[in-house]
Amino acid sequence: MINNLREEIRYHEYRYYVLDSPEISDAEYDQLMKKLERLEKENPELITVDSPTQRVGGEPLESFAKVEHSTPMLSLSNAFNDGELRDFANRVYKLAGTREIEFIVEHKIDGLSAILTYERGRYVQGATRGNGIIGEDVTENIRTIRSLPLRLKKDVNLELRGEVYIAKGDFEKINEQRLDRDEEPFANPRNAAAGSIRQLDPRIAAERSLSILVYDLLSYDLEGIDTHSQALNFLIEQGFKVNWHQKCDNIDEVIELCKQWTEERDKLPFEIDGIVIKVNNLALRQELGSTAKSPRWAIAFKFPAQLKTTVIKDIIISVGRTGALTPTALLQAVEIAGSTVSRATLHNEDEIKRKDIRIGDHVLIKKAGDVIPKVVKVIKNKRNGSERIFQMPDSCPVCGGEVAREGDEAVHRCTNVTSCPAQRREGIIHFVSRNAMNIDGVGPALIDQLLDRDLIEDYADLYGLNKDMLLPLDRIGEKSAANVIEAIQMSKQRSLHRLIFALGIRHVGAGVGRVLTEHYHSISNLSRATQEELEQIDEIGPVIAASIVYFFKEIRNQRVIDKLRAAGVKMEEKKVVDNQEKPLQDKKFVFTGGLEKYTRNEAKELVLSAGGKVTSSLSKNTDYLVVGDNPGSKFEKASELGVEILNEEGFDELLGL
Ligand code: AMP
Ligand code: ZN
Repeated sequence: MINNLREEIRYHEYRYYVLDSPEISDAEYDQLMKKLERLEKENPELITVDSPTQRVGGEPLESFAKVEHSTPMLSLSNAFNDGELRDFANRVYKLAGTREIEFIVEHKIDGLSAILTYERGRYVQGATRGNGIIGEDVTENIRTIRSLPLRLKKDVNLELRGEVYIAKGDFEKINEQRLDRDEEPFANPRNAAAGSIRQLDPRIAAERSLSILVYDLLSYDLEGIDTHSQALNFLIEQGFKVNWHQKCDNIDEVIELCKQWTEERDKLPFEIDGIVIKVNNLALRQELGSTAKSPRWAIAFKFPAQLKTTVIKDIIISVGRTGALTPTALLQAVEIAGSTVSRATLHNEDEIKRKDIRIGDHVLIKKAGDVIPKVVKVIKNKRNGSERIFQMPDSCPVCGGEVAREGDEAVHRCTNVTSCPAQRREGIIHFVSRNAMNIDGVGPALIDQLLDRDLIEDYADLYGLNKDMLLPLDRIGEKSAANVIEAIQMSKQRSLHRLIFALGIRHVGAGVGRVLTEHYHSISNLSRATQEELEQIDEIGPVIAASIVYFFKEIRNQRVIDKLRAAGVKMEEKKVVDNQEKPLQDKKFVFTGGLEKYTRNEAKELVLSAGGKVTSSLSKNTDYLVVGDNPGSKFEKASELGVEILNEEGFDELLGL
């Protein structure tokens, strides 16, 4: 049994370290390893020299020259919770005979480690970790990393370590490029970095936008360097890009930071899989020494895993507000990052085809932050022939209406716009949402009950509800019924641009809603606008214009609007006469990274309608840089230039949204 387990681990190590094509997630691997460690601890007589626990990593590939490391590059032992972090600290306190110990906390970057050698201030060698004793000579590939200094400030001999990785934004670009060339996309940035650093042709490596962050100095016989933080500062002075690090005086502070980064890891432009904690004092480190496997003066706090393997039980279709048919995978439930995942979005038919996803497939699932989980890839060698290819239906699974794919759109839509219940339901959910009418307390669960009991048919009917109608519903008491009715009544006074957005006109986002408000000032004016007239407006193209005209021509929509009017919902807004309402007159904005609530175009429209300007390149004349997910290099440049940086919330606030 223990031998089978070892074989299994070896096989996965080979897939991971040598082929860069893992079949199981890191967490599942960690679990196998923990199991083996436990078995060996309980039965020490069963330990063999070739056990996976007795070596550090995988075998080096044959194709690169081999490099023997001056100091073995050990693994880090792991902590998965507060208790294990405290255990680590207590071991250190005990061995050191004191509790006055400084720790340095760093990001554990999820790339691959590199050992760099400098002679008399010149870069002479870069090596991979390999099996920890012998690595591969990848000097030329590492040399392609732009942030790496080839010449130091001082003519010193240095050996240091760092992590080679690919930033999230660069990773997306590389995969897009690979798809264009009909090549298989990389599973994650780590694999992309590993694949790139092992390119025999450095020109290919150079195209891959590799980055490196340095985190350890090995030659600490340099004068005046007694601590790790001094070593890092020295490296910064020498021109290296050094990993983020912070000093902590006790383990409570360390735990606090681990918690913080568990929450905030998604904000970083690169992937981290944990936090590394190191003893700061270098002499103390020497004293603490290492076990065969890992140093005693450091530990890695590993985040709860966000990747898992599971099986697709079925693929179902949900119908959205605009009739879009979205395929969703029903999964055998798995725990990811503390929550149970049983669904993953598959986006559209093209995505399913591209990834060759079939019902019954074993798949790798990823959950990033609070984003809907998605399928990273199919584990094809687990197929047994019983998997079924999925076909998009040609009729709507909710109403039976005809399904069509328009032009070069990737999505299929139910064409039964007026009476498809799914579209009506989603339309109501949209109407009450935060950026639309913002009606608190009315969520999907309540809306479903209201629809089921025929209390409402469309969003306008919300205004006809009263407390007595709500009381018989599930999970509604006196108090919450009153609150819901109050919230609905209050929403009658929302600004016009919110109402226009809330109507759910296709292609009319929050930004276009504002632009239309500025030009038309009322729903009745807007409903009379012609295609030509609308196209006169800068921000409105033919597609949006056609969609608006079409919306107001529909009898059903006219009826809904009449109902809203009769209910007393505010339908007009006075002209803005002065610039007071344009707080951002001539302010210059630049965007980087993806925003959550708006597309780039919508965000741009918001700025324009507030009187601001949007440019694509950053300069010292820029007033604000708005930073979303996976920001590019602009983020760093902005801080250098002293440009004010806003996140999405800050942006909303500035625009009074
Ligand atoms: P592990 O492979 O889980 O044993 O962790 C050790 C590896 O973590 C090292 O070989 C590095 O590749 C990586 N690592 C990432 N960031 C750091 C860091 N700040 N300090 C030390 N190792 C790091
Ligand atoms: Zn339908």
